Amino acid sequence: MAHPKVIANWKMNGSLSKIHHWLYEFQSKVDPNSKTESIFCPPTCYLSFAKNIISENRIGIYLGAQDLDFDRDFSLTGGINASMLKDIGCDFIILGHSERRSYFFEDDSILLQKLNSAVEKNLKIIFCVGETKEEKNIGVSKEIIRTQLSILKKIPSNLLLLAYEPLWAIGTGEVPHPEYIQEMHETIKDELKSLNDSEIDSPVLYGGSVNEDNAPDIIKIISVDGLLVGGASLDADNFSKIVNKITG
Ligand code: PEP
Repeated sequence: MAHPKVIANWKMNGSLSKIHHWLYEFQSKVDPNSKTESIFCPPTCYLSFAKNIISENRIGIYLGAQDLDFDRDFSLTGGINASMLKDIGCDFIILGHSERRSYFFEDDSILLQKLNSAVEKNLKIIFCVGETKEEKNIGVSKEIIRTQLSILKKIPSNLLLLAYEPLWAIGTGEVPHPEYIQEMHETIKDELKSLNDSEIDSPVLYGGSVNEDNAPDIIKIISVDGLLVGGASLDADNFSKIVNKITG
């Protein structure tokens, strides 16, 4: 496996002082020899502030945004596009998160436009897919995932990271059985290969109730290339422990 990737998705949490403390604590606690690539995704309004601290202190963490607005040919009050995110030092963008799909009604046509905007500006895309508990129970998880992946057909594999996030595992404390995670990750990898016909293997990360206790076992599962962490990433001590533990 290439270097594992761990994403801190802060969702709608944080403040200037929390971000300031988190970054300094992360720097002091993370193993300086760690080969893990960490990616910090605070709310958009704190990205520039975080970037300044990261650059001034040479902190080993990349910056990612949680959303973007695709370019339109009319004016858009409140819009933030991929060029702006690139301009303030973002390297990554999370797209397709289940919360945006459900609360912001982001369907495939919206997501495809966001994906294309990200590709145009060379942002690395963390694309989330996952099934509901009901879909799992009636045995259609793989079909659901394949459908969600279908819009990635023309997205360059070198810009893609996938996050498999079963909706029933997000913020619930429930983590799927390791064999189930492996099966779903393999399905994602196979589907991406057949969609993109590329030699490049896009990493597939697992997300859903990851914490410092379960992270070492999850990362050992074949086909898991990293972790997307929500709740447990808000505390720098917890997050650095996850990073340090999965580095071995
Ligand atoms: C998430 O929101 O993407 C997530 C994985 O959250 P949590 O780790 O809190 O389950």
